[in-house]
Amino acid sequence: MSKKDKQIETAMIHGGENKIESYGSLAAPIFQTSTFSFDNALEGERRFAGETEGYIYSRLGNPTVKMLEDRICDLEGGERGLAFSSGMAAISAVLISLTKTNDHILCSNGLYGCTYGLLKMLKDKYHIDHDFSFMDNEEELRDCITQRTTCIFVETPINPTMRLIDLTMVARVAREFGIPVVVDNTFCSPYLQRPLELGCDVVVHSATKYIGGHGDVIAGLVVGRREFIDEVARHAQKDVGGVLSPFDAWLLLRGLKTLHVRMDRHSDNAAVIAEKLHHHPSVTQVHYPGMDHHPQHSLALTQMKTGGGVLSFTIDGTKKDAQYLMDQMNMIKIAVSLGDAETLIQHPATMTHAVVPEEKRKQMGIEDNLIRLSIGLESVHDIWQDINQALNVFVKD
Ligand SMILES: *Cc1c(COP(=O)(O)O)cnc(C)c1O
Repeated sequence: MSKKDKQIETAMIHGGENKIESYGSLAAPIFQTSTFSFDNALEGERRFAGETEGYIYSRLGNPTVKMLEDRICDLEGGERGLAFSSGMAAISAVLISLTKTNDHILCSNGLYGCTYGLLKMLKDKYHIDHDFSFMDNEEELRDCITQRTTCIFVETPINPTMRLIDLTMVARVAREFGIPVVVDNTFCSPYLQRPLELGCDVVVHSATKYIGGHGDVIAGLVVGRREFIDEVARHAQKDVGGVLSPFDAWLLLRGLKTLHVRMDRHSDNAAVIAEKLHHHPSVTQVHYPGMDHHPQHSLALTQMKTGGGVLSFTIDGTKKDAQYLMDQMNMIKIAVSLGDAETLIQHPATMTHAVVPEEKRKQMGIEDNLIRLSIGLESVHDIWQDINQALNVFVKD
């Protein structure tokens, strides 16, 4: 069955090829093996030459990992999926596949902190340049594309400011120039947003977040057209080597089965918390695309199924006040990452985005009084109670 034949909720559980011999096992078998033996030497030669199908060595492919790759491919509506040992391994493999020295990458003005670090390294060591743009309209986007631009890299919603990028518009302009658009779809997962259906070329995920969903695995995924993904697999993956282990692939297959159910609850809870924060006197701004006060709410309605589970807000105070507020939380854990069952709170300026120089951070809208919440699956009543008591202690002091 291809995705076209079934609803996405069903594809979370049954999508992909699933062609491995499993003796009827309901759960995916874990092929915890580094290598695969050949029946004879000639068969080995043929597999290496690509003349016969079959596995060789788990860095080049593994049945459990393949099952995950086929499933995410189905969910994103691409031609081939590829799994990596982390979101950063996936992002770096895609970026090095799309660039060479003297090329230019155009990025959304706001990126995951380590993606920013990677871009800086590519620039400092390999002279692969980059610029940032809010991509607010076609003119602005066209102005930022140069003769050397070989890739547009976008996050939407942007971490942690929750600004959105109009993917259909970016894909349309990029196509005129023949430049591929890569979307980091971590915050949405394929359940909320499918960039390939909107005309973008490549999707990357930190599967560590919503796809895994239980805070117990680090992993990355890439989906795109077969020709491009074959190329990434052949070089950036095989020779750089950031492959996913079979057990971690199994954890992600397990996570995917409940992704839609979890995403709905994360989103419902986040929508309630966003609204309550919006009305709290100590909170100066709330950034949540699912909220109708969000300046890009109408765009959210066109490209996202819900507002998702992450939101950020500013308080009437300083960095110290933000840290003090976080310290008042009882149930909510202070931790980076997102998409877990537990509600997590973090301070982007000193944590996830500490690597971004202060001036650049401010341009991205990451002020010292900005706090990010990844809303979990607990009772929304208990989540709000914890935040509210912390805000009230904060007001008093
Ligand atoms: C976490 C994250 C990454 C990096 O993923 P890892 O799995 O930690 O390597 C990339 N992009 C976004 C948006 C993220 O949240």
